[in-house]
Amino acid sequence: MILELKNSIQSTEAQQIADSNKAFLINYNEKKYLITSSSMKEIPSGLEDKIANHWVFPNDNQLASRHFQSETREVSFGNVTIGGKTNNTVMIAGPCSVESEEQITQSAELLKSLNLTTLRAGSFKPRTSPYSFQGLGLEGLKLLQKMREKYGLNVITEVRDATHIQDVIEYTDIIQVGAKAMYDQGILRACAKTQKPVLIKRGFGTTLQEFVQSAEFVLSGGNPNVILCERGIRTFETGTRFTLDLCGVAWLKEHTNLPIVLDPSHAMGYAYGIPDLTRACVAMGIDGLLIEVHPNPKVAKSDAAQQLNHDEFKELLNTLDPVAKAVGRKIV
Ligand code: PEP
Ligand code: MN
Repeated sequence: MILELKNSIQSTEAQQIADSNKAFLINYNEKKYLITSSSMKEIPSGLEDKIANHWVFPNDNQLASRHFQSETREVSFGNVTIGGKTNNTVMIAGPCSVESEEQITQSAELLKSLNLTTLRAGSFKPRTSPYSFQGLGLEGLKLLQKMREKYGLNVITEVRDATHIQDVIEYTDIIQVGAKAMYDQGILRACAKTQKPVLIKRGFGTTLQEFVQSAEFVLSGGNPNVILCERGIRTFETGTRFTLDLCGVAWLKEHTNLPIVLDPSHAMGYAYGIPDLTRACVAMGIDGLLIEVHPNPKVAKSDAAQQLNHDEFKELLNTLDPVAKAVGRKIV
């Protein structure tokens, strides 16, 4: 249940009410809200005269639900805003991993030359084998910061575990919580304590309800800036790396107020499918795309098979505007 407190209730009293009802207290759009489990269906007795408004839910999709807020949330980073009434579809692009200064500079220059704003690249890589490239760590974050300053780009990079959350929060414009980390409550709770946007990727065995609940950890902890990212789920099929769940995207659009980014690169796993899939994603009227592109994919240290080269990426980008226009969107 979400309870909106009357404006006359001051912070100290609001906190006391929250504590005695085991509720989260958040400030959102200059109002105070208490959030309890969805199993609560009625205003607790004694509180009736302190409540301005309340919402009851069938499950714990509460702050993220369209029942609480019908319009998609606006999320801003740098001079880009997605969600709300913007109709923007932000193209987030870059290599899987930061590998060297030369490589990430080439990536940043590609984005700049195409008037794109937001560079992705991992520094702390959550690999499935301990023997694979694990990322450059802090050195990679510093290289990303250099790109951010030199080229005025927004940067998104992944937090893999508790050892470096604060570094990632400090160095990045959008915190990426990966498919393998989205159940990590230490990470989610740390992300709740900042106001930086958090992009949560759906785990490949995660139901839509669980996915939304991981967003609720961040929202109920006080950070309203959450973006959901569908990146493919695991099915019986092995011909492609994962299966991009577009039905799930339709469900999220219908039931949640969070901006949605689609990542066809990790879903497909092979560069050949990415252009067609990207156009299909744009046609769904979404808030952003996450595409892996590398100056020389053949020598990439992670996800080599799925990264586009620069020419392939430029060719793809050229085809997206008409698709976006057809669904009332603009690629930014
Ligand atoms: C990535 O974005 O490079 C990544 C590791 O993605 P995921 O968490 O979706 O596997
Ligand atoms: Mn990758």
